[in-house]
Amino acid sequence: MLKIRQIDCKAILNKSMLADFTLNCYVGCTHRCLYCYARYMQKFKNRPEEWGNFVDVKVNAAQTLAKEMQKISSPKEVFMSSVCDGWQPLEAKYKLSRACLKLLLEAGVSVSILTKSSLISRDFDLMGAYKTGSLGITITTMNLRLQKALEPYASTSQERLNTLRKAQNQGIETYVFLGPLIPEFTDTPANLEGIFKGLKGLNLAKIYVDKLNPRWGVLETLKKGLSREDFLKTRLMLYTCTNPRKYSTYSNELKTKTLEISCQSGLSDKVSFCF
Ligand code: SF4
Repeated sequence: MLKIRQIDCKAILNKSMLADFTLNCYVGCTHRCLYCYARYMQKFKNRPEEWGNFVDVKVNAAQTLAKEMQKISSPKEVFMSSVCDGWQPLEAKYKLSRACLKLLLEAGVSVSILTKSSLISRDFDLMGAYKTGSLGITITTMNLRLQKALEPYASTSQERLNTLRKAQNQGIETYVFLGPLIPEFTDTPANLEGIFKGLKGLNLAKIYVDKLNPRWGVLETLKKGLSREDFLKTRLMLYTCTNPRKYSTYSNELKTKTLEISCQSGLSDKVSFCF
């Protein structure tokens, strides 16, 4: 049962390593990705519902942003969003990310968006008009069954690729976030080959590759969700991620493997590792 709370926020821009600021119009995310490490927000905000079962809607997000922008000397880059998907289904109703995006673009701020939702295409009119933003789409797998197990309520990978194409046709800069690469599941040669094949022909600025962040109860959630898919592979994944030396060696090998496979698609020059 989804619990929606409408709340007033005191601040909306957060200083960050990812950009000058991050901006989140929602606390919580109904995409319910098994690997989501933003689930730490549940404890931080003291919400009794499980991650994915609550969303706090910051109904005054745009008004707060407008006030903050008067005080802050011109942020150069804002990242949307770091602990939620700003274009999750509730955004169709509340339009808060759109309102904030409009304010930022009008002020000449470079906005980097990362989403798994085709709803972002609603806002291509703004992005196409101002041309100071870039659109990132996350892809973890082209295998529909695995994607539905990992990201049950996000747009399908094929819908995301179509969204990227649509953005490019409107002159919007695009990039892909490839990950997280989960041992035994999304890090396999077959999975990586499927993704790079899907990305071939797209005019991407970058392909950022990341491994799994196993903190904040992520492994427990993956264990519950993926054991149903494949019990043995889930055990092997847990073994790799809970053994620091093994995970370190694994990470280095993962970079080599990813580069080799990206070479086959002629995309290795676009690849940049986040680990
Ligand atoms: S879309 Fe992002 S924030 Fe939302 S559940 Fe998935 S990983 Fe978490």
